[in-house]
Amino acid sequence: MEARKGRLDGKVAIVTASTQGIGFAIAERFGREGASVVISSRKQKNVDDAVENLRSKGIDAIGIVCHVSNPQHRKNLVDTTIKKYGHIDIVVSNAAVNPSVDSILEMKESVLDKLWEINVKATVLLLQDIAPYLRKGSSVIIISSIAGYNPQSSLAMYGVTKTALLGLTKALAAEMAPNTRVNCVAPGFVPTHFADFLTTNEAIKKDLEEKTLLKRLGTTHDMGAAAAFLASDDASYITGETIVVAGGTLSRL
Ligand code: NAP
Repeated sequence: MEARKGRLDGKVAIVTASTQGIGFAIAERFGREGASVVISSRKQKNVDDAVENLRSKGIDAIGIVCHVSNPQHRKNLVDTTIKKYGHIDIVVSNAAVNPSVDSILEMKESVLDKLWEINVKATVLLLQDIAPYLRKGSSVIIISSIAGYNPQSSLAMYGVTKTALLGLTKALAAEMAPNTRVNCVAPGFVPTHFADFLTTNEAIKKDLEEKTLLKRLGTTHDMGAAAAFLASDDASYITGETIVVAGGTLSRL
């Protein structure tokens, strides 16, 4: 069993879409820094495996199935967390989809709806559910993307939903102050299942690496580190901001 002591001691963190990839790395980092973590995703088996993985590292974790656009799942996520821990200090809204590589003008209405529903609306609804339980000094972190700054083809409408999260961060930071800070992380490209279609193609991967100043893709650990900073009291005077974690890739609206 590894020791756990750190900046997030005694805090309770909900991380959505956290059974693999960036969400899992954020949950793991929070746990290593002392938080109790509530992980979730759509599939029970993924939830069980991720909880077991975290517990094997000495992290206090529970897992709940939660498809972020399902109201009953969201309610269950919040109710189970409160029943177990009594309060919530940190929320990471991490779920997103990119169901189609179609251009915006070719995109079906059903795909447009899904992008809005999962990537933007579910964050709002989740925070409506959780807000009554957030304590003074709590922290919300929204996961956007470098694509939110420069939506490239194959990620165009997805990128637009990620741009919306930059605005949502600003608006919620004003609305939830002074008790809760709201910040955003915009990851660069990270080789996860989500980005497989780009990062497993050697030519595309090389191009993405070349677009960074640091000449590499991001890691899930890079994202966990940024999220842990924002969640901690080290960031206690930071709200309404987006940290771009993209190796120096150009990011400007
Ligand atoms: P990933 O490795 O593919 O993991 C996705 C996770 O989300 C899984 O745990 C999956 O588990 C869960 N999930 C999928 N749909 C869900 C839903 N509707 N409700 C709840 N859980 C759901 O993805 P990732 O790369 O870590 O992406 C995480 C976030 O980072 C996303 O917001 C993405 O936009 C953002 N991002 C990623 C990159 C990148 O290059 N990877 C870059 C910028 C931003 P189940 O299958 O069990 O549901």
